[in-house]
Amino acid sequence: MSEVVSLARELIRFDTTNTDDARTATGERAVAEFVAERLEDAGYEPIYVEPAPRRGNVVVRLPGADPGRGALLVHGHLDVVPADASDWSVPPFEGEIRQGYLWGRGAIDMKHMVAMSLAVARRFKRDGIVPERDIVFAFLADEEAGGGLGAGWLVDHRPELFEGVTEAISEVGGFSYTVRDDVRAYLVETAEKGSMWLRLKVRGAAGHGSLVHTDNAAVKLAAALTRLDSHRFPLVLTEPVREFLTGVSELTGEPLDPDDPETAVARLGSLARMIGATLRDTANTTMLSAGYKANVVPAVAEATVDGRMLPGREAAFERELAEVLGPGVEMEWDTLPPVQTTFDGRLVDAMAAAIEAEDPGARVLPYMLAAGTDAKSFQRLGIRHFGFAPLRLPPDLDFTSLFHGVDERVPIDGLEFGDRVLDRLLRTC
Ligand SMILES: [Zn+2]
Repeated sequence: MSEVVSLARELIRFDTTNTDDARTATGERAVAEFVAERLEDAGYEPIYVEPAPRRGNVVVRLPGADPGRGALLVHGHLDVVPADASDWSVPPFEGEIRQGYLWGRGAIDMKHMVAMSLAVARRFKRDGIVPERDIVFAFLADEEAGGGLGAGWLVDHRPELFEGVTEAISEVGGFSYTVRDDVRAYLVETAEKGSMWLRLKVRGAAGHGSLVHTDNAAVKLAAALTRLDSHRFPLVLTEPVREFLTGVSELTGEPLDPDDPETAVARLGSLARMIGATLRDTANTTMLSAGYKANVVPAVAEATVDGRMLPGREAAFERELAEVLGPGVEMEWDTLPPVQTTFDGRLVDAMAAAIEAEDPGARVLPYMLAAGTDAKSFQRLGIRHFGFAPLRLPPDLDFTSLFHGVDERVPIDGLEFGDRVLDRLLRTC
């Protein structure tokens, strides 16, 4: 078994479930110690940081040939979302290998990239390979709950660990999309939508459930949420989405009408939902509560809405939400800003070259992620972010449904491909 596969397998065997509840999310210390030991074996002196009990983070720096160039950060999170074993075909924390896949929670989100980074970091140190610029490897806790005890904490409290870092790579990108026959595009994330988690509250008149009521908080909230659900935010063709759709159109020969990108998105098969979510802002109701007894009309009804806005749409999104929900709905929210960089420069050229060397004829294309990652924290240090965790996938695999999904798995040959691409990239970038 190759080193990258065996590392990925061992990483999956640590149950690092992050429930968002600090009392139960306790697996990261053991996996972080495992990562630190593997780095020590190879000759590093890892820095271990534990912002809260059992929430481990590990950082090392590999000096490059030209200290004058900005450093590259390669980061990955060690935590995973919960997995209910009764839904799975295999036990989710055993790292089973069957049918050419390594199975388990975290196989693609994102212990595969952690394993690749660890394998390359170890190889470079053992073989005395000096990259062209400093590389900082960071293995992080708590991404699945927003990174408050991982990336976010380190950025606030240990920024010196990222001294001189100008660019970063991590999830979610670098994976292949088979455009036609044997022609693949590799998607590089250059932007992320921002998020706005809203808590909504509607007040009405409480009273006995047997009387006539015209001011029912639950009903008013339900009406507002229904309006929001049927509302479509304006279509905005942002630069990364336009570049992505143009690139796919060049590869397929199917024309792209810039006034009607939705037709082009509909042709993308399993990627259609993911790319479709980056054409507009979205707002989905995720939690709802009101009332406590069958015969009491509640005075208050509450809901949570997961809002996601495109870069440049922060203020407009907020205004439009308030307008659609109407004056009777009180809003409170937490936001994380969108992330965006341009698809150019030496690092991007090196990504394209590394992919081309391992998959001749393939093309790298930028795209926007509808969700968020630790990039949002590192952006606060002025670091440019690219989602690039290289992976070659079989054409029929519905990759996006594996994220946080049942039977998460990574193709073994795709993982080994990713290890070779990452190795090439980190030597030359
Ligand atoms: Zn992830």
